[in-house]
Amino acid sequence: MEKFIPLSIPNFEGNEKKYMDEALEQGWVSTGGEYITKFEKAIARFLNTSDVAACQSGTSAIHLSLIEAGVKPGDIVIVPPLTFIAAVNPVKYQFAVPVFIDCDDSLCMDPIKLKQFCEEECSFVNGVLIYKSKEVKAVIVVHVFGNMADMVSILEIAHRYNLKVIEDATEALGTHYTDGPFAGKYAGTIGDFGAFSFNGNKIITTGGGGAVTANSLNAVSHMCYLSTQAKDDIHYYIHNEVGYNYRMTNIQAALGVAQMEELPEFIRRKQVNYELYKELFKDFEFGKIMPFRSGTASNKWFYSLEINRDKIHVPMREIITSLEKCGIQTRAVWGLVNEQIPYHDEFAYKLEKAPYYADRILNIPSSTQITTEEIEVVVRRIKDVLRGFINE
Ligand SMILES: *Cc1c(COP(=O)(O)O)cnc(C)c1O
Repeated sequence: MEKFIPLSIPNFEGNEKKYMDEALEQGWVSTGGEYITKFEKAIARFLNTSDVAACQSGTSAIHLSLIEAGVKPGDIVIVPPLTFIAAVNPVKYQFAVPVFIDCDDSLCMDPIKLKQFCEEECSFVNGVLIYKSKEVKAVIVVHVFGNMADMVSILEIAHRYNLKVIEDATEALGTHYTDGPFAGKYAGTIGDFGAFSFNGNKIITTGGGGAVTANSLNAVSHMCYLSTQAKDDIHYYIHNEVGYNYRMTNIQAALGVAQMEELPEFIRRKQVNYELYKELFKDFEFGKIMPFRSGTASNKWFYSLEINRDKIHVPMREIITSLEKCGIQTRAVWGLVNEQIPYHDEFAYKLEKAPYYADRILNIPSSTQITTEEIEVVVRRIKDVLRGFINE
């Protein structure tokens, strides 16, 4: 039996056990305790931003952002089709209406189509963008697989049309601009709101968990307040707004503090492994490793092999099953959100690239503890499997 090489598994090489034991010994296991503020400070320092609120998931971070952005029932929120559905579901939690805008070759939202939608499908009246008599309030931009979306162009459009920008940076902790007007700025700190996730498969994990940041201190503290049931008086239980149970626990945060210590090393390994994959797949005729945006340093969380569909015609499912049989776990990119049952009646604007890439991308093993030898095995097996389909 071959050794199984997983797609992406968590890495606990540091102080995880030590800090979690400490949290247990102190008895602080719930949503109070010093690890929560330590974790928030560590993230804020890393992102070079002033304030971060830790919460229970990336999904809740996006939901809190939508609430804080003032998204109300019946409003329009612009979203991507090529993403994990958790980026879009919170729009429904607010009884708002998603409109799907295509991606570009970065897999992130295409600013050209975003602009076309605003110009050609909407009207701009008294500073408000209107689509089919509904107010367009916000846009959710996902930095897919750790690749920075074109924030320079997207923010320009958002400012012109008074749209709030919510960055879904759940996959992009550490990704930042190195050039241009946003040089030094991190994904999640460029728009109005930024959401992060620490689910098990993300670059750092707290088991489940998330964090939210915003370009206004008041917004962050208000989202934190909402995440703890909107308590206005903790002794006498006064609540002046409808709150949520969205706060992170101290045990999760203890894990998170340890993971934050390792994050720079995790990113370094992701980069080294990415370069190795790129080298090994160079000149391979049936697939190529997709690039990350120039002018940025990506955390290179997930690697994408774009299958050459002129040559390889078998369904993705067959490729994945064949690789699984030889011990390599891979994954197709997500089913498009606009094609899922809860969303198939919503408006999708000129989708071309999203279905194109959905049919071509294979995500390949990217754990931080994968060895050089394992990467060589992965590449060899993928090449063999794809070549096998040609000879059939
Ligand atoms: C992981 C992820 C989320 C959700 O994060 P959770 O912590 O699992 O709620 C949202 N959007 C994208 C793009 C993700 O990859």
